[in-house]
Amino acid sequence: MSEAPSSGTPYPYDAPASQALFDRAAAVTPGGVNSPVRAFRAVGGTPRFMVSGTGPYLTDADGREYVDLVCSWGPMILGHSHPDVIAAVQDAVSRGTSFGTPGEGEVALAEEMVDRIEPLEQVRLVSSGTEATMSAIRLARGFTRRTKVIKFAGCYHGHVDSLLAAAGSGVATFALPDTPGVTGAQAGDTIVLPYNDLESVHEAFHRHPGEIACVITEASPGNMGVVPPQPGFNEGLRDACHKNGALYISDEVMTGFRTSRAGWYGVDGVRPDLMTFGKVMGGGFPAAAFGGRADVMAHLAPAGPVYQAGTLSGNPIATAAGLAQLRLLDEAAYAKVDAVSQTVQNLVTEALTKEGVAHRLQNASNMFSVFFTDREVRNYEDAKRQESFRFTAFFHSMLAQGVYLPPSSFESWFVSTAHDEQAVQRIADALPAAARAAAEATAE
Ligand code: PLP
Repeated sequence: MSEAPSSGTPYPYDAPASQALFDRAAAVTPGGVNSPVRAFRAVGGTPRFMVSGTGPYLTDADGREYVDLVCSWGPMILGHSHPDVIAAVQDAVSRGTSFGTPGEGEVALAEEMVDRIEPLEQVRLVSSGTEATMSAIRLARGFTRRTKVIKFAGCYHGHVDSLLAAAGSGVATFALPDTPGVTGAQAGDTIVLPYNDLESVHEAFHRHPGEIACVITEASPGNMGVVPPQPGFNEGLRDACHKNGALYISDEVMTGFRTSRAGWYGVDGVRPDLMTFGKVMGGGFPAAAFGGRADVMAHLAPAGPVYQAGTLSGNPIATAAGLAQLRLLDEAAYAKVDAVSQTVQNLVTEALTKEGVAHRLQNASNMFSVFFTDREVRNYEDAKRQESFRFTAFFHSMLAQGVYLPPSSFESWFVSTAHDEQAVQRIADALPAAARAAAEATAE
């Protein structure tokens, strides 16, 4: 907490090396980052440039260590630099980095995934979650020969043009593009509905008979903060799809292989037609996938007419990392992550309650987030009603004390098997002051 930030923000600035890197980055990269949330725009201050990660810790360019509660937005479920994953990567890299041919690693990874998730009969590997959802939507349209897609406000499926649309209100409506660069035509076939509202889904099918190719939903949303499906919601979606000849796509990019051995499917057992994956399955490398019913996947090139491809798809290093990580993720590993998650959630609740801060902890197995409101959050409109200024104060206090939270109140927190007692103690030690800061915060 030394000098004032060069960016003029009112937040503590004590990261000169990160600030210098951020200044350099801003000269050559828009906003200084390669993915917007990393710029700390929601909370202000200097984004920390990380130089290394070990177990539950990250170290920044100024040499400060943080307990990491972001885990690279989910992938690092074994913590950073897990020796078995590093060894698998080193072994793979010693044999070459990319061949542009099929290889055994991608077969083994696909087999591991198919083995874990019963409805996943066939899988196609890609390099990012965005590619996975984009390709799944194309396949659904090609398979059904229909054009329209239902998505839910507050669900994020990557930066796919047609999915970068969220209604400005909770009212069922055709989407307007969320960003310049997405045309009305691209967003015009997307129907955005309020999350956890089955009635609006039935109405949409009723209004557009024979036109809706698929419903895509986060299996359990984590991109508006953690907002789990109400009991029966996913089941209702699947039934509505099947009654109307549409496909049910469950986006498990965030929940896949994190919320259980079989992801969210392992929790709620609702059988999707197609699923998408990323994050954990890549072990920290760019690997993602989509898959599901074999009869639907058979429509994909070269087996079928729906085109989809990728120069680095099934990359040998990414698949080696992903496979090594998945093989370590047995029931005991999930029990550990769940237990750590519960402990941290309890500590957060205790600290905020003690300071009289209205809040709501929501979780989906070991994914969780804190909303600064006392009301249940069931959809994006509810999430937006929280007092985000309290999160900002809370976030900066935790950061100053060496705990790295997601820099936005609309994100899930993530823990790993590496979060041991010492790491949890550091979080516990930081929480009282952060809760006080949240209590004392005022809206601007
Ligand atoms: N789907 C979900 C549910 C996600 O959470 C994300 C990313 O956070 C994506 C898709 C896009 O994945 P990627 O960032 O790898 O493109």
